[in-house]
Amino acid sequence: MAGTRQLERLKMMVGGLWLDAEDGGVIESVNPYTGRPWALVPNATAGDVDQAVLAARAALDGPWGRTTGPARADLMRALAIAIADGADRLARIESTDNGKLLRETLGVAAQLPRWLNYFAGAAERLTGQTIPTGNPNYFVYTLREPIGVVGAIIPWNAPLILLMMKLAPALAAGCTIVAKPAEQTTASALEVARLVDEVGFPPGVFNVIAGDGAGTGRALVRHPGVDKVMFTGSTRAGIAVMKDAAEHVAPVTLELGGKSPNVVFADADLDAATNGVIASVFAATGQMCIAGGRLIVQRGISDELVARVAARAEAMVLGDPLDEATEMGPLATSDQLDRVLGLIDAARREGASLVAGGDRPTGGSVEDGFFIRPTVVTDVNASMTIAREEVFGPVVAVFPFDSEEEAIAMANDTVYGLAGAVWTTDLQRGHRMAKAIHAGTIWLNSYRVSDPAVPFGGMGMSGFGRENGDEMLNSLTELKSVWVEMTGATRDPLKMG
Ligand code: NAD
Repeated sequence: MAGTRQLERLKMMVGGLWLDAEDGGVIESVNPYTGRPWALVPNATAGDVDQAVLAARAALDGPWGRTTGPARADLMRALAIAIADGADRLARIESTDNGKLLRETLGVAAQLPRWLNYFAGAAERLTGQTIPTGNPNYFVYTLREPIGVVGAIIPWNAPLILLMMKLAPALAAGCTIVAKPAEQTTASALEVARLVDEVGFPPGVFNVIAGDGAGTGRALVRHPGVDKVMFTGSTRAGIAVMKDAAEHVAPVTLELGGKSPNVVFADADLDAATNGVIASVFAATGQMCIAGGRLIVQRGISDELVARVAARAEAMVLGDPLDEATEMGPLATSDQLDRVLGLIDAARREGASLVAGGDRPTGGSVEDGFFIRPTVVTDVNASMTIAREEVFGPVVAVFPFDSEEEAIAMANDTVYGLAGAVWTTDLQRGHRMAKAIHAGTIWLNSYRVSDPAVPFGGMGMSGFGRENGDEMLNSLTELKSVWVEMTGATRDPLKMG
């Protein structure tokens, strides 16, 4: 491998130890801005996965399994402080590995302690219930117990926050975790593992194995010692994960792709809506599962909104993610660049028009990286590829509508159901639309806000299960019912009288 001596060589964290893959296998991690590798990460074998699951099991059966909720909460709050202190380093690692703007990764890193602190509170409030039954001789109560070893699989588009959405509630529930970040963006999860270790979590509570999906990811999902699988990624891989987890009846939470509608009515505040469209599809270079890839706009304002969005797209500053002046970074991988360019070509071939972007920028430093210009596609019909497939890049397709009924039908004309937004100043219409759109999250006059307390997840081909909030905690615990006979009146069941 040419030039590997200059690359950072990262190790994975298993049972409190920093390890290479047992066979020495590595994967190159590419900086999407330069288009060149910057680090080598291990490519864990099935044997390495086994070690990690065993370490997680040992921690569960050991001291971690005996910790109280308040003791876990204390450690989680200490981790929140360590992450806040190390936010700048974490953000730089994420931007280098994934190409996201430093401005954005700093914002994400600042959010991570929120998740830990919210779920630290939840760890202290984890309670069962007492349940009155028809039989007065019995006192019945429930216990919430950790589900066990959690296998957490993370995609490359938002590695830090998607990891934290799994790690914080799993720690609160008293589980142990084996995380597998995406092979393209492993570094930030390893930095989190370093901090977890530093603040004093017992070894084996949080393990990070590195490696690809087909080998390492699959071995993790198929491992009979994994009690629950939390997966974020593509629908294609999610289906495979669900089948593999079924082999040992492990429950799964699937956060998959989307093709979210962003519906703008003529009575909307046009400045806010324009900003909302930009945030929904050009932030994070459009690599968001929640991206508002379908702009469904009432005909009276369609031309003006499209002109505004196209003008903003054309003026956008592309460049070094670490440079404060940059407004949009590269796509995270060269495969993703090829995929997005392919979908834009399909749109052209199928008769759509491009009113902004559509190609790679030329000149200057952006030529080396995986850049694409922010793209606005019009003259789209519902059967075109660009109307149906998730792009996962900075591309928005425009669909004009006349009536509210038509807007609802267009919004729901997709197999996905992750998110959507409605822009209107008509309060009643806003709530009608929120109810009518088939998706796990609806924003009214907003886009892309989230919070650890608010459930997040999909319907249809966008997956099932909810992250964040109590829903998440419930799905990481087992509910045990305990029946207590209170009178000592238990008789021989085979004797009469
Ligand atoms: P991907 O599904 O190929 O990979 C995601 C992760 O799964 C990676 O860590 C990969 O190594 C692993 N993986 C792949 N195949 C596997 C298998 N058979 N068994 C176990 N692990 C496997 O997706 P990607 O291309 O890395 O990410 C982009 C996709 O993720 C997009 O479709 C996007 O919509 C989706 N996504 C969804 C959400 C959400 O919350 N709903 C969030 C972010 C991304």
